[in-house]
Amino acid sequence: MFIIKQHLMAKSIEEGYEVLIKNRNNMILGGTAFLKLGNKNINTGIDLSNLDLDYIKEDENNIEIGPMTTFRNIETNELLKRNFDGIIAKSVEEIVGIQLRSIVTAGATVASKYGFSDFITALLSLDAYIELYKGGIISLEEYLAEEKVPKDILVRIIIKKVRKKATFKTMRNSKSDYALLNCGVSKLNGEYRVAIGARPGRALVKIIKEKDLIENNEMNKKIDEIVDEMKFGTNMRASGEYRKMVAKVLVRRSIEELR
Ligand SMILES: Cc1cc2nc3c(=O)[nH]c(=O)nc-3n(C[C@H](O)[C@H](O)[C@H](O)COP(=O)(O)OP(=O)(O)OC[C@H]3O[C@@H](n4cnc5c(N)ncnc54)[C@H](O)[C@@H]3O)c2cc1C
Repeated sequence: MFIIKQHLMAKSIEEGYEVLIKNRNNMILGGTAFLKLGNKNINTGIDLSNLDLDYIKEDENNIEIGPMTTFRNIETNELLKRNFDGIIAKSVEEIVGIQLRSIVTAGATVASKYGFSDFITALLSLDAYIELYKGGIISLEEYLAEEKVPKDILVRIIIKKVRKKATFKTMRNSKSDYALLNCGVSKLNGEYRVAIGARPGRALVKIIKEKDLIENNEMNKKIDEIVDEMKFGTNMRASGEYRKMVAKVLVRRSIEELR
């Protein structure tokens, strides 16, 4: 269990950020479900609950998700069910149980770049961006590629409404366990954007062109080539070799579905 010496109910994101950077043991609090699994000694826990950051909204071009939005709200949100073939809502619906999903937050998950995350993989298969209070707006792909987790506050997740056709799949050893592999694929203008996570490392993305799959009827060969470029590791859930095999199957099924 973690220890929090002081609790700050931030009055603005700016105040939260100023306190965050004052001490290396000051931390932003999301739903704190993940923090409670560890034994961190937190100097000041910065609570963003009063800043109206729990929202899912759209404008003409984007859907935006506030960092304090819970997975339960994401799972049940009509806007997210209607867009991107519902994969954002679908990506969280198998995570443990409703009670946990009613606590855990979107911002904490994405900011922390968890390798096992189902939500991140689904986002990465779309055109997704994040906004950091200091770091500004960057693509999720760029954010994940940077090894370090920055000392910053994720203030917004932005998904461009361009990729309408998408699918999301996971493989679990048992219900409510972490995925041993997850895969999100979207299709736009003859290209598939393929994201694979729980490798068990952070999700990665690759582009596969429809024309390369059609040529010489070489779909399986092309998918094998793309997946072989990715690294898969071994942990208690599965070996790297098994993960690679599962990845090839999930990518092929996803592409067939999108066709
Ligand atoms: C028992 C259990 C099982 C789980 N199983 C799965 C699973 O199968 N699949 C899956 O995808 N996920 C799973 N998760 C992870 C879960 O989905 C969340 O990703 C995780 O709990 C983090 O959300 P939180 O709100 O609890 O974060 P917290 O514990 O509050 O915070 C986690 C980290 O994020 C930082 N943080 C919080 N908010 C922000 C912000 N706005 N900006 C910057 N940093 C921030 C915190 O400082 C902390 O370092 C599981 C979690 C638990 C506890």
